[in-house]
Amino acid sequence: MPSLLSDDISEAVETGITPGGTTGAFRDVLSKHHAHRRKPPVHFTDMSDGEREEALKELGYPKFRASQLARHYFSHYTTDVAGYSDFPQDQAGTVKQRFFPDLITPLFEQTADNGATIKTLWQLFDGSRIESVLMKYPTRTTLCISSQVGCGMGCPFCATGQLGLTRNMSAGEILEQVRYAAAQARDGALGEPARLSNIVFMGMGEALGNYNAMLKTIRQISALPPHGFGISARNITVSTVGIVPGIKKLMNEHIPVRLAVSLHAPSDKLRDELVPMNKRFNTTQVLDAAHDYYMATKRRVSIEYALMKGINDQAGHARLLAKRLNHYGDDWVHVNPIPLNPIEGSRWTASKPEDEARFLDILHNAGIAATLRDTRGSDIDGACGQLAARVKDSGVLRTVQ
Ligand code: SAH
Ligand code: SF4
Repeated sequence: MPSLLSDDISEAVETGITPGGTTGAFRDVLSKHHAHRRKPPVHFTDMSDGEREEALKELGYPKFRASQLARHYFSHYTTDVAGYSDFPQDQAGTVKQRFFPDLITPLFEQTADNGATIKTLWQLFDGSRIESVLMKYPTRTTLCISSQVGCGMGCPFCATGQLGLTRNMSAGEILEQVRYAAAQARDGALGEPARLSNIVFMGMGEALGNYNAMLKTIRQISALPPHGFGISARNITVSTVGIVPGIKKLMNEHIPVRLAVSLHAPSDKLRDELVPMNKRFNTTQVLDAAHDYYMATKRRVSIEYALMKGINDQAGHARLLAKRLNHYGDDWVHVNPIPLNPIEGSRWTASKPEDEARFLDILHNAGIAATLRDTRGSDIDGACGQLAARVKDSGVLRTVQ
């Protein structure tokens, strides 16, 4: 679908080039190809306040209409301009196209955990597919979102990693996942009405590899309505493979988002094998950056650790991990081991329950907070970080009209 926007507004679109642009410290670690892809249409959430007002002016509307649009979007989760009773209807179709083009279209939904988990497969404007997972817990409702089409980091145990990176997603594409889920939760899709309270960047992609769009997204998730969805930044988690310059940049934004670092191994020798990016940013650099992040934000950092049978789940691994984390002091991390959800054809499998238990015990005895991460939706490949755009033709699958 071609963008209907004028050039000056198109300037606001994410370029697809990674933060730091031509001078970026980690530009070269990302695919060279995605920058040449077509850009998604510009959405209201991609625009600055000035750009929104300018676009309204071109249509002959005064500035204050921008906050009306924002209120409908962020407070009522609706983009149906024709249904806005307080908005002039003479150009409703044009306004809709200009500000709220349909960036993501649900193709399929799968439910699990007795309806408390919903995974949605989305189609983007260029036919790309991504996924998000909505999960209801007793005290919170969490959405796991995708920030890139595929991922260029190549972790061999990860389904998304096998796809490679197609392109970065725009802020609009990322935020639309949030709007849709917030409306679903409100409308009782999870069994009873719920308020979307937490966001985790643990779907497809490496959010720090799509920095500008990620930041725009975080700002509009956390700002109070009508400027954003009003989900506290403290309830947003950015998970990273360990892009050190990205961690530092995020730290310097002074936004209290939680950082999760996918460590998966306590030594460089092992991590080099499991997380190729370790050759670029090694365990010492990644842990130093994670600790700096803790010091700057006073938010405990999560350490993600996929337990793989016989590979990284032995007592020695747990002891070394504890030693390396305690080196920085007490109470600054929370380790989240998760049993590996093996992908097809993988040489790695999930740890034995007794090895998981021992791993946790060793960390606890060393004074480190650790909880086995929940594998919500793992029966539908919906557990965060294990998404693959693989459409199943069986199971609890619903085609979205
Ligand atoms: N790219 C980011 C965020 C997306 S992945 C990152 O790597 O942190 C979210 C989490 O799921 C990461 O900790 C990732 O390592 C983990 N993950 C990926 N594949 C997995 C699998 N097959 N089993 C268990 N965890 C997995
Ligand atoms: Fe990318 Fe994260 Fe998967 Fe690694 S684990 S390939 S960084 S999505």
